[in-house]
Amino acid sequence: MSAAFRPTGAAPSFDVVIVGAGPAGLAAAASALTGGARVCVIDSSAQPGGQYWRHASEAAGLVDDGRLHHDWRTYQELRADFDAGIAAGRLTARFATSVWSVRREAAGFSLALTPANGASSVDGPGSDGPEGAAPALIRAARLVLATGGYDRQLPVPGWELPGVMAAGGIQAFLKQNRMLPGNRFVIAGTGPFLLPVAAGIAQWGGEVAAVCESSDLTGWLPRAHRAAGVPAKGLEGAEYVAAFLRHRIPYRVRTVVTEILGSDRVEAVRTARVDRSGRELAGTSRVIDDVDAVGLGWGFTPQLELPAQLGVATRLDADGSLVAVVDAAQRSSVPGLLLAGELTGVGGAALAVLEGRIAGRVAAAEARGESVLAASGGELRSVRRQRAFAEAMHLAHPVPAGWADRVTDETLVCRCEEVPAGELRHAQSALASDDSRSQKGVTRAGMGWCQGRVCGFAVSCLAAGDGHGAGAASAASLAQNAKRPVAQPLPLGEIAALPDAE
Ligand SMILES: Cc1cc2nc3c(=O)[nH]c(=O)nc-3n(C[C@H](O)[C@H](O)[C@H](O)COP(=O)(O)OP(=O)(O)OC[C@H]3O[C@@H](n4cnc5c(N)ncnc54)[C@H](O)[C@@H]3O)c2cc1C
Repeated sequence: MSAAFRPTGAAPSFDVVIVGAGPAGLAAAASALTGGARVCVIDSSAQPGGQYWRHASEAAGLVDDGRLHHDWRTYQELRADFDAGIAAGRLTARFATSVWSVRREAAGFSLALTPANGASSVDGPGSDGPEGAAPALIRAARLVLATGGYDRQLPVPGWELPGVMAAGGIQAFLKQNRMLPGNRFVIAGTGPFLLPVAAGIAQWGGEVAAVCESSDLTGWLPRAHRAAGVPAKGLEGAEYVAAFLRHRIPYRVRTVVTEILGSDRVEAVRTARVDRSGRELAGTSRVIDDVDAVGLGWGFTPQLELPAQLGVATRLDADGSLVAVVDAAQRSSVPGLLLAGELTGVGGAALAVLEGRIAGRVAAAEARGESVLAASGGELRSVRRQRAFAEAMHLAHPVPAGWADRVTDETLVCRCEEVPAGELRHAQSALASDDSRSQKGVTRAGMGWCQGRVCGFAVSCLAAGDGHGAGAASAASLAQNAKRPVAQPLPLGEIAALPDAE
């Protein structure tokens, strides 16, 4: 497997390297090409699209009709620019390839690559070269990171049972494989993202027994003007309402899953109504039977490993996520490094595309030694409106503090290392482990295969709590989760094979 990534002479160099071929990365590539740059795009997936436009396998000859997608036309336009760049020899695409390390150099950046988990060769549209010839290192004059995010998860008793997935995982499974990972679903957590997941399941013939939304929707009322500023979101929402009515999907607000039941896989879920802080209301518990799949989603966590390796400035966003700080030109605090999409704050695909376009244009201009006007007035207004919408969404759908009340001491929080909540609580109160790093040192939470991507937020909240309940995760604790000198798993042999100087 690693043979494909032995160093092959000098590392190729590009004006602009973009990591991530989702909405932000594809838009950055299109505008960097327009700006005359020689561009390289790298993505761990086998084909472009990212999370939002994840689609059926092109390698298997499948043609996606866009039925499960929104803004499919935007994807097709960006994809046409991408393919034209490849055909013109100005864009090099590296799919099924992960960037595991990035470093600053005198004249830009060097990136270390590895085959993505499970990939046996460099493939995907336009990938550059046969197995055995692809370089393990590349250099960039300007770097755009557009690595997106992943589902934010909170533990609940029974969540380790087979059949429980991240809500986004269910959607990704459906979009990619054109089949459902179950028959009768419960989708739970918070935020508008639960809607497309449930609608997609129903559209594909699955049954959604309930969507449990922990907030009520009144949080939107004082912010209705911000929602009105992005009418496309309103239209998308109306489509979901229609789909819910058509498929008779029960949408229960102020409701949470308190326990997932089953002997060796999911069989049922227990739900309850909650108050504003997410605390269970007495006498409201009920069981939904005959459930074989549960999707959990509490928003998204930006994937900050690569920006963190370069030491970018970060901040806490309205949803409690750690995000990278950028200026109006998408420039980070590190010279030559631009960031776009979920890394700068979870805000959806349309915002990711806007930011990507700006980042690609600025990167290309800087690589030419020119400085450009960051963005037009129209672009800046659109970004502002999308950001205002995102903030309203985060405030209307907070993670309710009461979630930790339902987490018994026996509930596994770190599933990789099998660390139960009781152990974390003990470490927090008896040993004063009040951040994720010291929790990791004492309990091993976050030390396993996923490196804290699944449990990191919950561990940070429990560490900030009172020894039982959860507190607000601090920026420092979340930053420790993001700090990984090796951003993606790779065989030791690939590190050993790097030239000494690297
Ligand atoms: C599973 C999932 C499903 C989603 N579905 C929806 C939806 O239906 N509707 C909606 O509005 N929003 C959805 N979102 C939110 C959505 O992802 C974003 O709004 C949008 O896709 C963000 O675009 P992006 O370009 O920033 O990131 P992404 O689309 O996430 O793209 C990032 C890309 O970077 C690549 N990458 C990351 N790290 C590396 C690395 N080290 N090396 C190489 N490549 C790397 C990834 O493979 C990915 O293709 C979803 C999110 C997730 C996680």
